[in-house]
Amino acid sequence: MSSDSRDQPVVVVGAGPVGMTTALALHARNVPVTILEAEPEDRDRSGSRAIYVHGSTLRTLERVHPGLGMDLVDEGMVWPTRRTCWRGKEVFSRTYDSPGGYGDIPHFTSVPQVRTEAYMHEALDDCGIEIHWESEVETVDADGDGVRVETTDGRAWETEYLVGADGGGSTVRNEIGATFDGDESANSFIVADVEEIDGEGYPNERLFHYDHPEVGGRNVLLVPFTGGWRLDIQCLPDDDPEELCSDENMRAIIRTVLGEAYEDNLTWISTYKFLQVHADSFVDDHRRVLLAGEAAHLLAPFGARGMNSGIADADEAASAIAVANRARSDAVARDEIELFAARRERAAQYNIDAAGQALEYLQGDDPKTVLRKEAAASLADHFEVAGEYLDDAPYGPHGAPPIVSTGNY
Ligand SMILES: Cc1cc2nc3c(=O)[nH]c(=O)nc-3n(C[C@H](O)[C@H](O)[C@H](O)COP(=O)(O)OP(=O)(O)OC[C@H]3O[C@@H](n4cnc5c(N)ncnc54)[C@H](O)[C@@H]3O)c2cc1C
Repeated sequence: MSSDSRDQPVVVVGAGPVGMTTALALHARNVPVTILEAEPEDRDRSGSRAIYVHGSTLRTLERVHPGLGMDLVDEGMVWPTRRTCWRGKEVFSRTYDSPGGYGDIPHFTSVPQVRTEAYMHEALDDCGIEIHWESEVETVDADGDGVRVETTDGRAWETEYLVGADGGGSTVRNEIGATFDGDESANSFIVADVEEIDGEGYPNERLFHYDHPEVGGRNVLLVPFTGGWRLDIQCLPDDDPEELCSDENMRAIIRTVLGEAYEDNLTWISTYKFLQVHADSFVDDHRRVLLAGEAAHLLAPFGARGMNSGIADADEAASAIAVANRARSDAVARDEIELFAARRERAAQYNIDAAGQALEYLQGDDPKTVLRKEAAASLADHFEVAGEYLDDAPYGPHGAPPIVSTGNY
């Protein structure tokens, strides 16, 4: 047994945004914690990924580590304009003169995930929370008294509670025997980052193109973030996404969408099919292991519920563990962990359904949806509400899950 054993009542597996938030939220509740991370400290976390950080997530981060939410506000940007074009013609545009939200925290901020993670690392350092790098968890054995974890290099930890925040391919989830079956999006999507240019660049607007005529009739979404632009291209059913991603094709697409000045500024590109799935249980049979973030659920990114809901999981997992850890009765401790599972499983199903509505809207060929889009486009010149429907619908409903103690997701 390693000397690390039992000194920490809680072990978090995974130093992604959800694992780091879990650790900060435990520390804020005066519960000592350590993190095991498979990758080395100098790993590459490229790609803008979760750029849209919701105001409620910023408030959660500010609450668990004062200053962290505001760091993201200061680093991020709020794009003031939302705009939509239908087959090349503008059907909606609105510019806001304020970032909305409450107090100093805006409605959202747009910042690359790698910067969010950098601020979380600083916060962990401030709190003296250690990340054990190159510590890939291989086995997890729980019983009524606690959890034993072994890493691939033969070290072992014993802990009261374990949070699996080890992402979509979660070992922790497999080890507790949770199933993870779900649907995959029919279409592929290309996600690319384009670096901003100094001076007079493209305006800071979120722009959605339905059936962009100069991008082969594909849907194209452009979202600004601090330092660049995120370009999402929805492939057509017969597309070969890898071919579409060639240097030549991407230069042409960037030239068309952002302008010639940007055509050499591609910094990251990836292709995806999105899974919509959640684990059948977010806790093990002994109520000692909790799943959070992508270890527990995967969503299509429309509506930006992925990292935002993972951070809500993290805060609720920490809250449940903090109470369970001090409980005088095993039954009370179990109840707290079960309450976490009940709330977050329900939230995950809600978020999957909401992201699924957006996915269905974007790629579905349901005649009613197709007709509704066509009708809205033809009425948009006369009725703003028609254009606003086209502008809003690709991101799914705005609602929050029925059971949330903090945040919106
Ligand atoms: C293109 C794209 C766009 C996105 N856009 C948004 C958006 O706008 N808004 C939003 O909210 N979300 C968005 N997301 C989702 C967001 O990126 C994820 O939800 C987020 O990264 C999940 O965080 P996590 O901490 O759960 O998992 P991860 O970030 O995957 O972190 C898991 C960590 O666990 C480690 N690990 C894995 N296995 C082990 C093991 N056995 N032992 C120890 N450590 C292990 C990994 O190395 C990793 O560091 C997007 C995702 C993509 C791909």
